[in-house]
Formats: sequence, structure tokens, C-alpha cells
Amino acid sequence: MKFIFADSLDYVDPGYDFLRERNAEGRRPYWDDHYPHEALGYAPYQGMLVSRAIVGGGAASGISGKYTEAQAMRFRRVGAREFLRLSDPRFASLDIFGDCGAFSYHNEEVPPYTPEDTAEFYDDGRFTHGCSSDHIIFDFIDGLSGMSGGTPENVRRFDITQANAEAFLTVTKHMSNRFCPLGVIQGWSPASMAEAARRLVAMGYDYLALGGTVPLKAPQIMACVTAIRDAIPSTTRLHVLGFAKADNISDFIGKGITSFDTTSPLIRAFKDAKSNYYLPGTGGALSYYTAIRVPQAIENPKLMNLAKRGVLHQEDLQQMEADALSSLRRYDRGAADLEETVETVLAYAVPATIGDLVQNLPGTRQIADLRARYERTLMDRPWTRCNCPICRETSIEVMLFRASNRNKRRGIHNLYVYSNHLKTLKEKSAHALQ
Ligand SMILES: [Zn+2]
Repeated sequence: MKFIFADSLDYVDPGYDFLRERNAEGRRPYWDDHYPHEALGYAPYQGMLVSRAIVGGGAASGISGKYTEAQAMRFRRVGAREFLRLSDPRFASLDIFGDCGAFSYHNEEVPPYTPEDTAEFYDDGRFTHGCSSDHIIFDFIDGLSGMSGGTPENVRRFDITQANAEAFLTVTKHMSNRFCPLGVIQGWSPASMAEAARRLVAMGYDYLALGGTVPLKAPQIMACVTAIRDAIPSTTRLHVLGFAKADNISDFIGKGITSFDTTSPLIRAFKDAKSNYYLPGTGGALSYYTAIRVPQAIENPKLMNLAKRGVLHQEDLQQMEADALSSLRRYDRGAADLEETVETVLAYAVPATIGDLVQNLPGTRQIADLRARYERTLMDRPWTRCNCPICRETSIEVMLFRASNRNKRRGIHNLYVYSNHLKTLKEKSAHALQ
């Protein structure tokens, strides 16, 4: 089972100065920055996925993407592998998957991309694998049989996805055939997804991609995978698109998933309320720590609001921010105790996250929760228990929930832990089969 990392320009400045909060002198964004496989010195994944919606470009689509116009142009010119800096021979075995990023256009009547221009996008970008242009079905009903239960809109989107897959396969046959086409499955129940899969195999696909799993719970995804596998030949490969429940991967090993893509280990570093820093846990599970929020005072809306209301002066905020940072660094060096550090950090993190001063919120549960989580993080010092280059180089900075250079580094650390976790699970499963 291959883990494909869904990239969204997730790189960091290798020369970032944490004490002065500055980028390296003369740093050119993107060019001098490091993708996870550069920051770690090896790829913690077996491939990368790029969504067409993230690249953007092509005025007709109306989707602006995340790449700058110059980046989108360069992507098309040099191809995905060179753009992602995977051209080095040691990365030659990595796959490069493409999909349309259907969530970005879920409100549209029809996908803004045709099967023809989608195939062209993959061909120009020299992808190794490309998914047909699908249209998300949001409804999900357990326990239906066959094609029953779909609303007219569900059926309409099902039909669009199937028709696009058929046209896409035809177009790719006339291309230089550099990429392997994947037919995307969309449905409103495990049974309708199984039917979609069966039809895609009948069209001639031997690699399918299950879409629309993002809002689903792990047991629901399992029901879909099981129903699909039962409906298709064992030789047909299956990819799970946007597998948000990637941390439940141990349940999915041996269930006939060839590959999956996710951005979850990286994104949880700064999008999850509690689980921001991964470590290997006990019994084959992952364990998680909460990163400590020390946002930049001048960029935090809650703090700015307090300053506007006159509760705190701008200078006070900057002092509290500096105190929190220096207290955490002293704690890391063994020069400050736990209690003092937690108090200094909370004095700043509470107004930044809850929007009021600690003394104005006596007995608040939110504060008690935050205190407990920060105490656990500081007491256990997880950053000293990881051997990845990020933690070794940056020490406690990786634990701070503070702007992109720290947050994405923590995300890259999570990719390191996640890839080791996956490797262990696969070895265990292979061992069990022997
Ligand atoms: Zn680490």
C-alpha cells in the first residue's frame, strides 16, 4: 500500500532564523525552500499528488488555485517531477498522481474541467497517474442495496462522473501514454460505489480511485472499500482519494487498497485543535501532543481586538509574546520550571485563543483543558524524543504553534513519524501472513 502525499506547496525556508523571526538573507520563496523530502533528506512517502485545482491556471476554469501564475506556468513547462524537485535519481521511483480537486468545484453545476483538458494537463505535467474528472456526491447512506436511494442530484453527479471517466479513458488511449489513467468512483452508498466501480472496470480501467471519502467516518470508508472490492477483480488496483482518516490506516491494511493520498499528517500540525505533534505510541498506534500557541501578536485577530478595546496595549501584547517565547526556550534548556512556564504561556495563549485575559475567566473549562494539554506537552518533552532532522535542529521551536515555518516543520516531522508508523504496520502485516 503506497502512501501518496497530497502537496499544497508545503515547503519551508531551511535558513529561517527562529530567534530573529526572519527568513534567510536573500531567500527566494519556493526556489530556496525545502519540500518535506528535501527537509528530511529522504521522501517520507511513495509519491506526491497534485490537484489541478491547486495549480490553477487556465482562465476558462475560473479556479485561481494556490500557485502563482508564474508557478503554474513553470509547472506546465517543466512538469510535475521537476517542479516538486523529485528529479533526483534517488526519487525516481516516486509516483506523481494528479486529480482534479473536486471539492473546489462541488458547488458548480458541472466540473469546470473536461476529460480532454484534464488528460492534457496530466500529459503536459508528465504525471505517472491521473484521475478522471469527477463530481462529488455529498450524501451518504449506509446499508442500501444496488442503485437504490440516490436523489436525482446524486444520480446526475454519478452519471457525470461515469461519462467523464469513459471519455477520459478514450482520450488517454490516443496520448503518448506516459500516465496511467484512474477512473474515479463517486456514489451515495457502498452499493452504488460498487456499481460505479464495476462499470469503470467494464470500460477498461484497471486502476480505480475512490472519491468523496473526506466527510466519511472510518467504518463507512471501510464499508465502501469492502463493497467495491467485492464487485471488481482482485487484479484491479484501488486508490483512496483524500483519505482523511489516514491515522486509522492499520484497520485498512490487507483490505485491497493499492494506494491512498492524504495531507492529514502535515495539516493536522496546524489545523487540529489538539493533535498537532505525532509520536509513535503504544500497541501500534500513534500518540499526539498539542502544540503550544504563541501566535505573532500583530497578526492575531483576537489580540488585535483586545488592543482595540483598550484591554491591553500593543506594547503589553508584544511583551507577553516575548515572555512566552523566552520562557519556553528557558524551559527547553532546563533553566525554567514547568509551572512558571505554563503560567507565562497561558497568560498569552488564553487571550490569543479565547479572546480575554486569564484573570477575567476564572474557573473556565477551556483554560483548564488548555493548561492540562500544555502541561502534558511540556512535561513529556516529545521534541527531545524524536530523531528527525527537524526536531534535532529546531528543538522546542517545532512545538510552537506559530506561523508557517514552525507549523509546516511540525507537519514535516509528522510525515516522518507517519511514514515510520506505516512501515512498521506493513512489516507486521507481512510477518503475520508468513
Ligand atoms: Zn521530529
